[in-house]
Amino acid sequence: MTSFNESLLRNRAYVGGEWVPAISGATFDVRNPATNELVGTVPHMAPEDVEHAIAQAQRAFGEWSARSANERAEPLKAWAQLIVLHAADLAAILTREQGKPLADAKNEVLFAASFVEWFAQEARRTYGDVIPATRRDTSFTTVKEPIGVAAGITPWNLPCAMVTRKAAPALAAGCTMVLKPAEHTPLSALALCALAERAGIPPGVLNVVTAERSAAEAIGRTLSTSASVGKLSFTGSTAVGKLLLAQCAGTMKRVSLELGGNSPFIVFADADLDIAVSSALFAKFRNAGQTCIAPNRFLVEDSVHDAFVERMLAAMHTLKAGDGMDPDVTLGPVISEDAVKKIERHIANALDRGATLVAGGKRVHREGYFFEPTLLTGITADMAMSCEETFGPVMGLATFSSERELIERANATRMGLASYLFTRDASRVHRVSHALQAGIVGVNTGMIATEVAPFGGYKESGIGREGAREGIDEFMETKFICQAFAA
Ligand code: NAP
Repeated sequence: MTSFNESLLRNRAYVGGEWVPAISGATFDVRNPATNELVGTVPHMAPEDVEHAIAQAQRAFGEWSARSANERAEPLKAWAQLIVLHAADLAAILTREQGKPLADAKNEVLFAASFVEWFAQEARRTYGDVIPATRRDTSFTTVKEPIGVAAGITPWNLPCAMVTRKAAPALAAGCTMVLKPAEHTPLSALALCALAERAGIPPGVLNVVTAERSAAEAIGRTLSTSASVGKLSFTGSTAVGKLLLAQCAGTMKRVSLELGGNSPFIVFADADLDIAVSSALFAKFRNAGQTCIAPNRFLVEDSVHDAFVERMLAAMHTLKAGDGMDPDVTLGPVISEDAVKKIERHIANALDRGATLVAGGKRVHREGYFFEPTLLTGITADMAMSCEETFGPVMGLATFSSERELIERANATRMGLASYLFTRDASRVHRVSHALQAGIVGVNTGMIATEVAPFGGYKESGIGREGAREGIDEFMETKFICQAFAA
């Protein structure tokens, strides 16, 4: 098993540049979903702790936002470098609290660093405009300004990358931030703070408050109703996103929401099946199927269905399940007992309605929340797994026979995050990728997330974009300066 630098494993929250307990003194335990071992104990905070963090972020805002973009970029660059330098240590913490295999955790850490590095550079490109004025004695200009204190709420499935995908653009824009990571994964967020502190990010600029699920609603309400918070950036379920959006209305907060998906994975008969299969293996089984962009509905053209299933089964046999700290493991556990139960419910529902189980289908009876890599065929639109994210290592296949039918079925969901399209026909790529109602289309690839391109969803998959130049705009206001002068 891999060892790691314990100094990044913190047992206190990070507020105003100090490592603090909860005001109440309460704590909660973080356990490894593969082994149930205790990984750490952190403060169980409440709205009063959050109010304090907001006040610290407000205090820090003046100096931080007054800095030049270069001056903000310097500590951000140092933070990115430290994340890369400590990638193995961060990965070990991530794997132990979240379960994903160590190599995947390391990739996530490097992905997390890429946001910090990218936005350190983007800070210098938050250009305004000089607009040709409609009057001779007046100049028209726009400038971009940071919104103020930003709040971030992040999920457990990407415990490092979701933190930096919010914190880096916020800080680069000149905002300060109060961030609440998920109950299951506070340790990665705190480890990132330890490196932010070392990188010279000033006290109060980045604050992380930790809490168990019982306080999530109250903390969310505090962050979304505080008049001192100008922006809320949330990643998580659509249900919670809708609740937060409604709560933010009272203070007219700027809101970005990265929510759930229900991504179609489309394989046309002319696709390179080897590429489709290896992409499906990566996109579906990475993180044990627990990513918002995981394909959730496999739509395969009739004539290649059997060949696709045969090759997919062979590929799935290469997966090795187990504790992610074992370097040979490629499939970790799911996050909790509730996650196992949801997968079981989806499979039972599909089988009741006539689907066929081709592989897997059961939880693995050992310590931890493991589920067999599972393949079902004969999935129909009325089954639970067509309507909701399964969030597990389960593939459900349906067939289609025409492009028109395919587009209708792919778009028959209120979600619109990612979609995947496999075909060799360039005209079809053009037609179908434009017809898909999704924020991201992967064509002949399962790797679609990068810091340089906008990430976000159509319809109920969210509002706004993260990453890319759009990502920093989400933390800025545009001010129009209309200046009259003596002619
Ligand atoms: P979740 O239940 O919505 O939780 C996400 C975060 O919100 C956690 O920090 C959670 O705290 C907190 N939370 C829970 N209830 C809350 C409430 N009433 N008010 C305020 N905050 C609350 O989502 P999840 O099941 O953990 O995460 C998986 C979801 O995230 C999936 O739907 C996935 O698709 C989505 N996701 C989307 C993206 C994207 O970019 N679009 C990326 C990753 C994940 P606790 O942990 O304490 O409950």
